[in-house]
Amino acid sequence: MGSSAWEAVLDRIDDAAAVADVEAGVHARLRHPERVLEVSIPVRMDDGTLEVFTGWRVHHNTVRGPGKGGIRFHPDVDVEEVTALAAQMTLKTAVCGIPFGGAKGGVRCDPRQMSAGELERLTRRYTSGIAPLLGPDRDVPAPDINTDGRVMAWLLDTLQMTGGGIHLPGAVTGKPLSVGGTRAHAGGTSAGVVVCARAVFEALGMDLPGRRAVIQGFGKVGGPLAFLLKSAGMRVVGVSDVTGAVINEGGLDVSELSDHVKATGGVAGFPLGDPIDPDDLLALPCELLIPAALGGVIDAEVAERIQAKVIVEAANGPTLTEADAVLDRRGIAVVPDVLANAGGVTASYFEWAQARQGYPWDIALTADRHHEVMAEAFDEVWAASQRWDVSLRRAAYALAIDRVGAALEARGIFP
Ligand code: NAD
Repeated sequence: MGSSAWEAVLDRIDDAAAVADVEAGVHARLRHPERVLEVSIPVRMDDGTLEVFTGWRVHHNTVRGPGKGGIRFHPDVDVEEVTALAAQMTLKTAVCGIPFGGAKGGVRCDPRQMSAGELERLTRRYTSGIAPLLGPDRDVPAPDINTDGRVMAWLLDTLQMTGGGIHLPGAVTGKPLSVGGTRAHAGGTSAGVVVCARAVFEALGMDLPGRRAVIQGFGKVGGPLAFLLKSAGMRVVGVSDVTGAVINEGGLDVSELSDHVKATGGVAGFPLGDPIDPDDLLALPCELLIPAALGGVIDAEVAERIQAKVIVEAANGPTLTEADAVLDRRGIAVVPDVLANAGGVTASYFEWAQARQGYPWDIALTADRHHEVMAEAFDEVWAASQRWDVSLRRAAYALAIDRVGAALEARGIFP
């Protein structure tokens, strides 16, 4: 996503506000983030020089609960992108009915060029810079692109060291298991994608077994997803990642593919499939297409070539607004990102709740609750799309805005 990411979200907010017919004041408030903090982050590099990085933490809206959203380290991060992603978190948490608002953080840096020590110093200084916004009842970060449990552990530790020694496991999610993370966190997004895929197939009178799936991306989301879809009886006929794309009409051997990726760093060269041009992956014949890599990959031209019956957006923002109308016209059902990948924030919510309780939940109970939240969210969005006679994307946005609007109206304006 580039500098237009925020404008694209604003377009969708404008459209959804009209669908849900929310009060003009509610609409206006959603067009403005609540607060945007920019921090400079001086870091002593390993070679003794000093570099100053820039980072942001944005609260888009916290009327339904503390801010929730990941922290992204990437050379292209800017304040518009972080604001757009924060707004999407406001909508995502409202769609699945969990008591959080929308936040996001980012640091403009290239972590691939940095040592572990440099990353740790960057994380700690960034955390101390944004600390006034953080806390279990204020804003709860999580991992995002190029950040992981290790980064979350440094963040947790920095909050405690600079906050009078108070241990705050509820101030961050996606933590390592050793400091209060949960087993269900890692696969939560992929599991939620499968709940949505199964539900939309059912609603369209189809079922998963024997059908063909294509997945773009084989990382933290796309990798586990391939296994889950295969277990559900689907044939995963095409997979791509940054190294290339492979197909096998009979179904890829996901386990062998995963071993190949671990050994070689990517899907390219997988011997039990045929290579294709990654640009053609999204247009492969299949029933289910899952973008699980980058934003902005489906433009109007790609949308014309897609042969899938259903798209479930595991990635954030994979479809440009210009493609929405094309997919609608062609009768392709799209489960939008704010619903499809909400399994991740739901798993984060459960980690936060367990930290607050100081008591870990049984894994089976966690899985049941996760399934319940995602299935209910899908049913509500589906019902809203029928009620308003709009696409699932417009329904999800409108439902979310309606819920945030109800909270804004109930609380009124201070002072
Ligand atoms: P990741 O970094 O673990 O994996 C990304 C995958 O995309 C990798 O396989 C990479 O090789 C591939 N990729 C990169 N460039 C590509 C290209 N040009 N063509 C094809 N593949 C390419 O990231 P992730 O955590 O799996 O996230 C994937 C998407 O899902 C992102 O859009 C992210 O915002 C979204 N998401 C992730 C989570 C989560 O829990 N991790 C939650 C919600 C949304």
